[in-house]
Amino acid sequence: MDQGKIDILRARPVPAFSHLIEGQHVAASDGATLDVVSPIDGQVLTTVARGTAADMDTAIASARAAFEDRRWAGQPPAARKKVLMKWADLIEANALELAVLGVRDNGTEIGMALKAEPGSAAATIRYYAEALDKIYGEIAPTAGDILGLIHKEPVGVVGAIVPWNFPMMIGAWKLGPALAMGNSVVLKPAETASLTLLRLAELALEAGLPPGVLNVVTGEGAVVGQALGLSMDVDVLVFTGSGATGRRLMEYAARSNMKRVYLELGGKSPNIVFADAPDLAEAAKVSAAGIFRNAGQVCVAGSRLLVEAAIHDEFVAEVAKAAQAMRVGDPLQVDTQIGAVNSDVQLAQNLRFVDTAQAEGGQVVIGGHRILAETGGYYMAPTIVTGVTPDATLAQNEVFGPVLAVTPFATDDEAVRIANATVYGLAGAVWTSTLGRAHRMIRDVRTGVMHVNTYGGADGTVPLGGVGQSGNGSDKSLHAIDKYINLKTAWIKL
Ligand code: NAD
Repeated sequence: MDQGKIDILRARPVPAFSHLIEGQHVAASDGATLDVVSPIDGQVLTTVARGTAADMDTAIASARAAFEDRRWAGQPPAARKKVLMKWADLIEANALELAVLGVRDNGTEIGMALKAEPGSAAATIRYYAEALDKIYGEIAPTAGDILGLIHKEPVGVVGAIVPWNFPMMIGAWKLGPALAMGNSVVLKPAETASLTLLRLAELALEAGLPPGVLNVVTGEGAVVGQALGLSMDVDVLVFTGSGATGRRLMEYAARSNMKRVYLELGGKSPNIVFADAPDLAEAAKVSAAGIFRNAGQVCVAGSRLLVEAAIHDEFVAEVAKAAQAMRVGDPLQVDTQIGAVNSDVQLAQNLRFVDTAQAEGGQVVIGGHRILAETGGYYMAPTIVTGVTPDATLAQNEVFGPVLAVTPFATDDEAVRIANATVYGLAGAVWTSTLGRAHRMIRDVRTGVMHVNTYGGADGTVPLGGVGQSGNGSDKSLHAIDKYINLKTAWIKL
């Protein structure tokens, strides 16, 4: 990474952004805008359109028309593949510009942003582009006088609502398979991270995606997000974000056209460390990164550290040492390891969680407070709280910030019991040298992903999805494609 290039890009003024509908930049129907505040310094960076329900309806109508006239779904697979491949190339060619814009918008440290945002978005689009002409229908094993064909059809119009952490990566997890299968999409980015997704959609047009096939509408979740959820003309809703919003989307679907709803929600993921971990110093370093990178704003963050009682004090001290060695601050400095908290609202919420944890008997070992306030930005010291009981607020609720809750356990059974004692089931980890114990933990801890002797890290070949109130369905891998197709049977008498 070249600090000089980053500094040039960060000094560029950011133009005002508007919706992208039918290939055109369109202002909100009432002309309203939302300020985009950079978490780096608390200053207004630019504005985006503050969409109305009418704007959303226009975007949905455009996507519907694009689907019905088959301007995209009707193209030969090879042609669709070419467009998506070109789009991935353009994302890669503009990677640093996209990453810096995204960091100015949402505060993720640049090293991680570059890899996880344009890097993974391009890889994801390419993955589904490569897959799209390798997905076949089926012929059923029927009686000899019948031909049973199973077609895989696009669903039609997909509504996609995404959060502010890793908007390009998570956006691409939806856009890649949805567009590869021939659907049209209306995308609603988060209020505090819209810019890069608007740029991504511009690049899609440049790559040859026909206008109307991908529309982006910005603004408040409670207005444009709700309009998307309640639409009678959206066939599938795919969402990443909080459980509270996910619950609303299911209600919207029930109140409208019963559209399919797929949810990727939050977690309170247990990171279980046994005394027989192969390398406790390494486990401590990786555990610290597993909760503190991107200021804890990672859905799979290992936010509950369950430590075997025999090594509790020594291991917590190691994690604290590793955390304190991580550089917190300006996310556009290449050596920053922990960037900004996304907004003042999120920072205040993080601090309230720490207060509550202390009131419930937890001890703050390090952190617990805002730092670098003089920059105007939203930064929080990595925070470790010990003595968190399994039923404490901090053990039961996702903070989505740099706050680690530590709970000791004595036996394998107790570790599993504590690990499973939340409503969530997104990710987890076990650190052990005992093969049987590792496999038992993989089997018994209820999550969508378990790590063994590592934390975090995966690629597009494996699915990511939660169980329990962490969601349903999966992003990534070929399995994600099922969300964006309908199976249609043709029953033919011979
Ligand atoms: P959020 O639910 O507040 O917002 C997510 C999106 O929903 C935003 O675009 C927002 O505008 C929209 N929204 C809000 N209210 C809405 C409404 N009434 N109707 C329709 N849309 C509405 O979540 P967030 O704070 O942006 O994101 C953080 C959450 O996302 C955390 O819980 C995190 O764990 C989760 N997350 C999950 C994954 C995963 O893969 N499981 C990945 C990243 C983040």
